Amino acid sequence: MGRADGFLTWKRQGAGRRAVDDRLDDFREFYAPRQDDLRMEQAGRCMDCGVPFCHQGCPLGNLIPDFNDAVYRGRWDEAYRSLASTNNFPEFTGRLCPAPCEAACVLAINDGAVTIEQIEKEIVELAWEEGRVVPQPPRVRTGRTVAVVGSGPAGLAAAQQLARAGHTVTLYERADRVGGLLRYGIPDFKLEKGVIDRRVAQLVAEGVVITCGVELGTDVRWDELVGTHDAVVLAIGATRARDLDVPGRDLPGVVYAMDYLEQQNRLVAGDLVADPIQATGKDVIILGGGDTGSDCLGTALRQGARSVRQIELFPQPPGTRTPDNPWPQWPLVFRTSSSQEEGGARDYALMTTHLEADATGALTRLHAVEVRFEGGRLEQVPGTETSLACDLLILAMGFVSPVTDTLVAQLGLRLDRRGNVAVDGFRTSVPNVYAAGDAQRGASLIVWAISDGRECARAVDTDLMGAERLPTRGRHEAFGGR
Ligand SMILES: Cc1cc2nc3c(=O)[nH]c(=O)nc-3n(C[C@H](O)[C@H](O)[C@H](O)COP(=O)(O)OP(=O)(O)OC[C@H]3O[C@@H](n4cnc5c(N)ncnc54)[C@H](O)[C@@H]3O)c2cc1C
Ligand code: SF4
Repeated sequence: MGRADGFLTWKRQGAGRRAVDDRLDDFREFYAPRQDDLRMEQAGRCMDCGVPFCHQGCPLGNLIPDFNDAVYRGRWDEAYRSLASTNNFPEFTGRLCPAPCEAACVLAINDGAVTIEQIEKEIVELAWEEGRVVPQPPRVRTGRTVAVVGSGPAGLAAAQQLARAGHTVTLYERADRVGGLLRYGIPDFKLEKGVIDRRVAQLVAEGVVITCGVELGTDVRWDELVGTHDAVVLAIGATRARDLDVPGRDLPGVVYAMDYLEQQNRLVAGDLVADPIQATGKDVIILGGGDTGSDCLGTALRQGARSVRQIELFPQPPGTRTPDNPWPQWPLVFRTSSSQEEGGARDYALMTTHLEADATGALTRLHAVEVRFEGGRLEQVPGTETSLACDLLILAMGFVSPVTDTLVAQLGLRLDRRGNVAVDGFRTSVPNVYAAGDAQRGASLIVWAISDGRECARAVDTDLMGAERLPTRGRHEAFGGR
């Protein structure tokens, strides 16, 4: 373990952030530069628990006490090898993960958890700086061909694992650039896109062939793809957005969060966007209190909105854990994201009833009513009707399911009752077709997408080769770990 009394000596000190005024001026990442003197101390707080609950909390089964100890001792190469053995892309999770490992850390029972996410980011960023992240092309080729459809974190992880196992992998993406929601959903102030590009260059050097601008099911039929590959992985995400069913929904000025976020990410990338949706000088309301809504809030603030308000249907969570939500469960408590820290107002338990337009037909007001949950049912509270100025309404109410129409029509693929791709151990109802990430799980997290991509690759490789060769959750990488 790090230092026996480290957790008594040093208090938790998390990742620093740039000052709000400074970061609102640009779309650069909001994280403060690294503080070299802090990182080893923070790793030294780890108690190397007999039962490391952090390890259980992490969907990837990251070997957290091992890399904490290595960081405390200054053994950065060892720390990186441990981290990379279970996580293909620690630079994504180190920036963006809600860190269920920290919620499960034993220190979190009565003190601040070890800053695991921050340590993870520092290990991988130093590894990039010092040239430890190098391509790992396979030593032996199997001659088997695999198509991975969708280049979000699930598709990228599956493609990398399968290429390292020696298969010939083609990654198909309908967008013009690789990355899925990392590229066109998550704003640059949370993830600058060069972070994706340098990892994609590694995949290409490992032999993954990337084909962008091809929509499977439309440009190429699914049955043709299946007929020309030994295996197909569906990593198409869950991109069908939940809609708002109220009078006025079709007014100009009501937009989906993903349309709004994608345009801003394209502007940052230097693309020409004709007539982009801009919040500048507007009263903006965002429906939905999750990650997507929070990303819209940060974007609207940077665009210079007159006011921004995020509305959530559910009641405000408590400030601390309730008795029925004990450690090491995920804490269902009130949180403030980096964007919420920057400004804007938040309303809870408020349901939109209708939208109002002015004489020109433009959106001007949102009408709502307070709601409460009675016996699990949503009830309007009489006499609480209200209306708010609004000339840009952003719908960020989550995602319903993957878009599967062509998969069902062309392959007869079976769906589960929520409309996700039905799987059994990542195998779909169609022979040689597999699914990973949000496509089979429903909208979730990056860490789960990477974990699914790895596990799905293992299922594909096992079926193709007749033996279990790739590692499973929390087990060291069989084909090296860089
Ligand atoms: C705005 C926003 C912010 C988020 N913030 C966070 C966060 O901070 N932390 C976190 O952990 N999670 C976050 N998430 C969730 C996270 O991004 C997703 O869970 C994750 O990206 C899912 O990965 P995936 O690979 O399954 O799918 P996706 O990332 O959705 O990728 C699917 C890819 O498949 C492509 N595709 C779909 N159909 C086809 C087809 N027919 N042919 C070719 N290509 C196709 C799509 O274009 C897309 O590129 C956020 C989500 C959103 C929307
Ligand atoms: S639970 Fe926390 S203190 Fe214990 S091993 Fe994991 S990171 Fe270290």
